[in-house]
Amino acid sequence: MADIMYNILNSKFNKKQNPDIKRRIDNELKMLDLNDMEGEFRAVYEMIKYLREKNIPYKTGGTAANCLLLYVLGVTAANPLRPHYYCKDCGKIEFSNDVSDGFDLPEKYCECGKKMEKDGHNLAPEQFWGVEGETSISAHQIPINVPESAFSDAKEFIESHRDMQHLQKNVGVNGLEFNCENIIISSDSKLPERDPEWHASIDANEMREYLIGDYKNVLSLEQTTEVQPSSFKGVLKMYGLTRSTWKGIENVKKIKGVESDEGIVYSLEDFGYSLDVVPSYFDDVFDILIKENFPPAKAHEEAANVRFGRGISKAILDTLFENDSLPWCGNAISLLPRAQGIEELINAFRLKRYDHGKKEESSV
Ligand SMILES: [Zn+2]
Repeated sequence: MADIMYNILNSKFNKKQNPDIKRRIDNELKMLDLNDMEGEFRAVYEMIKYLREKNIPYKTGGTAANCLLLYVLGVTAANPLRPHYYCKDCGKIEFSNDVSDGFDLPEKYCECGKKMEKDGHNLAPEQFWGVEGETSISAHQIPINVPESAFSDAKEFIESHRDMQHLQKNVGVNGLEFNCENIIISSDSKLPERDPEWHASIDANEMREYLIGDYKNVLSLEQTTEVQPSSFKGVLKMYGLTRSTWKGIENVKKIKGVESDEGIVYSLEDFGYSLDVVPSYFDDVFDILIKENFPPAKAHEEAANVRFGRGISKAILDTLFENDSLPWCGNAISLLPRAQGIEELINAFRLKRYDHGKKEESSV
């Protein structure tokens, strides 16, 4: 697995090893070994190669995009590194601390004259691999959604893969979902059956502009919502807030005639706090608790409480309340992984061509 990983990295960066990236890859390879997941990674990697060869779209969710190894292998779409510029021509990589998401970086040209790509969503490996000293939280799950027409092929591929044979299989089938060890294959009716353009690289500006412009559709927001995001980070925050569960927030807006959870939308005004203060993903809870000097294992445990719908423990809330550091914190019951939010937005961007087609059809 290490060989495959370094071959891919060497060709991407013209054999120039960045020490930060190398350190993270080496640490994640260690975690891969510790968790005895090499067989699963190999099986997923080969399945993804098969799907790509056939131009079959797929997407991932959960915390999979926090894992750099899965990104390098082409399993996830969101680059988990810190915000950075990347030159396709000479392989130069340059990290930046000016923004919290690489899609919000300003334009920059490389020394070689080429316009640099902007990427990096700053997704911590701990949210996938776990934190030393914590107990029983990390699931290391790799969920992969494929079109319905590819579901049985993908299932068979994993079941019959040589690297999966020796593993004590934990197999379950639930309708159009199948799990084998940590791999979860589900069918997704929104994905097109075939699309040769699906995995084409994403232009950060184009995606940011599309999402800001179209965020009302993406988030199902009402026309009257006054708070508008102006950056990728802003769209991402709104997406997280909208997909989360909260208590004690009274002025929940409902789209006319829609009674499902999907129709319930929060705006930042609902919270009465600024975009930067409100956590919209459980990763934010982890980051905030680390800033408040909680040990990483405790921060991870509390973030997991919010991930799995239990809310933050009362003892922690009392401490935070006394410090006046997180006055709203008791409201967050269940928050998504930020990795999932980014993967979903990338997916929405990739599906935009099909939305456009539908609109044209319905207006005829
Ligand atoms: Zn260059």
